[in-house]
Amino acid sequence: ATPMATMVGSTISAKNGVLYKGADILEKARGIDVVVFDKTGTLTHGEMRLTDVIPVGEAIEGDSGSTVADGGVVQEETIVDEEFVLSVAASAESGSEHPLAQAIVEGAKERDLRLDEPTEFENVPGHGIRATIPQGEVLVGNRKLMRDNGIDPTPVEHTMERLERDGKTAMLVALDGELLGVVANADTVRESAKETVAELHRRGYEVMMLTGDNERTGRAIGEQLGILEANVHAEVLPEDKADEIDAIQADGSRAIMVGDGVNDAPALTTAHVGVAIGSGTDVAIESGDITLMRDDPIDVIKAMRIADATISKVR
Ligand code: ADP
Ligand code: MG
Repeated sequence: ATPMATMVGSTISAKNGVLYKGADILEKARGIDVVVFDKTGTLTHGEMRLTDVIPVGEAIEGDSGSTVADGGVVQEETIVDEEFVLSVAASAESGSEHPLAQAIVEGAKERDLRLDEPTEFENVPGHGIRATIPQGEVLVGNRKLMRDNGIDPTPVEHTMERLERDGKTAMLVALDGELLGVVANADTVRESAKETVAELHRRGYEVMMLTGDNERTGRAIGEQLGILEANVHAEVLPEDKADEIDAIQADGSRAIMVGDGVNDAPALTTAHVGVAIGSGTDVAIESGDITLMRDDPIDVIKAMRIADATISKVR
């Protein structure tokens, strides 16, 4: 691009809250075919709230209650009620920075539950966490995390599915190899997300969504936003997001990827154009070509329009 194009582009964009990293970006942001959005923190606010805590006894249909052996002393049994499930999950999650974890910890604090710091803690990226707390070894995460640790999640499948159909992220909680219950968090979609998808469709772009969240939750959110079911790619591991972009671009299409998280950074780099949400992580902003200062996904349309208008005006 000419210096003139750069000047015009950056003047217009500063006023509109769209920041381009360099002159060449204005040119790159033309002729896009596919707009790919990350879900959490991009199409949604990324502000999770704890919505459900369901002890295993209630999560299994027809079962009325449940107990767990306390510290190996079989005579002293702990009643697995909501408070117990939540305090175990929140104590374990207090070692994590993940938004899902923070919502669980906040939910426990709002209920005035006493939490313990884990003595050992491990992140299992894309699946959950493992922590040691005074009550024992805790796992909080998805079905895969449970299965990988020899725990069968099927007894609570019905409950998980009900929560996921509502677009919630349901997580399993286990203590010392036994299922304790299910907790769920909900996020809210950004006000303009639906309009953004509709407007992109009107303009002839293909719209896709990538998420590490499970299939059913992803589909529920995709449906709320008008994204085609086939274009919702769920359960994508952090390290696989860039491969998804490569696959989308394999036929020569040009993708613009919009994301906010550390997870999204490689995909932002791989896409023809990477767009970071302004309030997103520093890594995402560093990896992107464009930053949306107002955190509003609709500005991705503006970003492409400015690029189109700027170049054609100068030529
Ligand atoms: P996203 O792309 O939505 O940020 P992640 O890749 O971080 O998702 O996580 C994918 C899934 O792994 C989550 O939907 C959740 O089921 C599980 N998970 C990840 N981190 C945690 C955590 N700290 N606690 C519980 N579950 C988690
Ligand atoms: Mg995100």
